Amino acid sequence: MSVKIIVAGAGHGGIAAAAILAQNGYDVTVYERGKEGTLGYDWTDIFAPGALKIAGIGMPPEDKYEYKENMTFYSPNMKKGLRQNVAPDQLEIKMERKDIYSLLISHAVDCGAKFVYECNIEGPILFGNRVVGIKTSKGDFYGDLVIDAAGIESPVKINLPAVCGIEKVPGEFSQFNVFRAFYNRATDEEVEDKYKVCLLPGGNLGVGWIAAEEEYSDLLIGLFDKLTDEKVNEIAELFRSENPVLGTELKRGGQYVKIPVRQPLAIMVCDGYAAIGDSAFMTVPVIGSGIANSLKAARILADTIIADKYNCFCVDTLWDYQVKYYKVLGSGLAQLACVKLLLTQLTPDELDYMFECGVLTAKDLTIGADSTSLVSMIKVNPAELIEKAKGVIKDPVLLKKILLTGKRIASVVTATTTMPRRWNRQQVFKWAKQYKMCFQIDG
Ligand SMILES: Cc1cc2nc3c(=O)[nH]c(=O)nc-3n(C[C@H](O)[C@H](O)[C@H](O)COP(=O)(O)OP(=O)(O)OC[C@H]3O[C@@H](n4cnc5c(N)ncnc54)[C@H](O)[C@@H]3O)c2cc1C
Repeated sequence: MSVKIIVAGAGHGGIAAAAILAQNGYDVTVYERGKEGTLGYDWTDIFAPGALKIAGIGMPPEDKYEYKENMTFYSPNMKKGLRQNVAPDQLEIKMERKDIYSLLISHAVDCGAKFVYECNIEGPILFGNRVVGIKTSKGDFYGDLVIDAAGIESPVKINLPAVCGIEKVPGEFSQFNVFRAFYNRATDEEVEDKYKVCLLPGGNLGVGWIAAEEEYSDLLIGLFDKLTDEKVNEIAELFRSENPVLGTELKRGGQYVKIPVRQPLAIMVCDGYAAIGDSAFMTVPVIGSGIANSLKAARILADTIIADKYNCFCVDTLWDYQVKYYKVLGSGLAQLACVKLLLTQLTPDELDYMFECGVLTAKDLTIGADSTSLVSMIKVNPAELIEKAKGVIKDPVLLKKILLTGKRIASVVTATTTMPRRWNRQQVFKWAKQYKMCFQIDG
């Protein structure tokens, strides 16, 4: 009898893992609440195309993507821009979200994965503390393993028993409430910096993004606080005053959504269960990109499952997935989560000063798209940053915040390198407690 794998939610990593597993003879079914052919948002996304290759997926047709230009980062006063300089072979691509979904789903179907649409998942089915299936609007489904790709508010993860030790919600300063919309292009003028990211826009805790595309202008506002129409209008108007290209006529999007922006889950597996993508908080903190990381995680997870020769899929064997994920990606992401926490502690003036005094440079903000290898190119060098800060920053309060961030990053590096290599409940729970403490706001 073939081994049954349930993918809960058609998240990007879940679909990619479904494809690899189906190709390897597993009986894989993806259960998704959306309607067939309608998945994804009405906007474009940017991600590293090398992640497709890692997940065994071919490049999309050439008319379905374009290479993205470098982003320019701004501090709240929007005076000094720091422009990335990504190497040409590491540039990310921009694609319509719906086309990304078509690419992933058609590949998975070709590999033999099955999809059940319009199926709302209500929670896990448990046998003791082992996940043995999912409860859905179309009935109960049982499997040997449940891969949770149901996003930031996954009902599977939220309803796991506490004894699994898996965090259910992101926590403080760990998710952006996001508004994303495409407006008309209000001027035909050539825009020098096409992709602008503004940190703490208008002094609000979060980020803003304006992209001057040929046919529209793209606005994203992501705040830790609740977003209201008034707040969106206030920040959009502020951006319009600096960026005349940003029109007022809504063309596409205009939705409120959530993105996790934090360190990956401290524990992402339990008996019969593995989380992937947003359900495991795999996005890049600060920026919120999660597609490439989910696709890379799919390869690691699928390889771990295939290596489990007895198809036991218990926490002992699935733990390898977490260890490998942290080695190649999670550790770097966790370090960036510390930088995000610094952002929540800075005043707008302090951040302006950091841009102006040269302690932050374009190189610091250039994250390689890591086109060919699994290993992330995200590199925060705390020692380098601190030495630079010590030399440049005269303000003792700001310097203290930066030094504490350096200390936080160092403790994260220690935590991620001392993660137990083999599953031992007591040791893992002790480790997870220490790891989580690294991100305490006043710690
Ligand atoms: C505005 C915005 C812009 C973004 N831009 C980028 C970008 O440019 N580049 C990038 O890399 N990332 C971007 N991201 C992040 C990216 O979308 C995610 O990190 C990535 O998609 C991985 O998430 P996921 O696929 O795991 O989860 P999701 O995309 O949330 O997918 C989860 C799936 O599970 C389904 N589901 C949820 N609950 C249930 C249920 N109860 N029953 C059945 N099905 C369910 C959902 O319908 C959905 O199909 C952006 C996110 C947002 C919100």
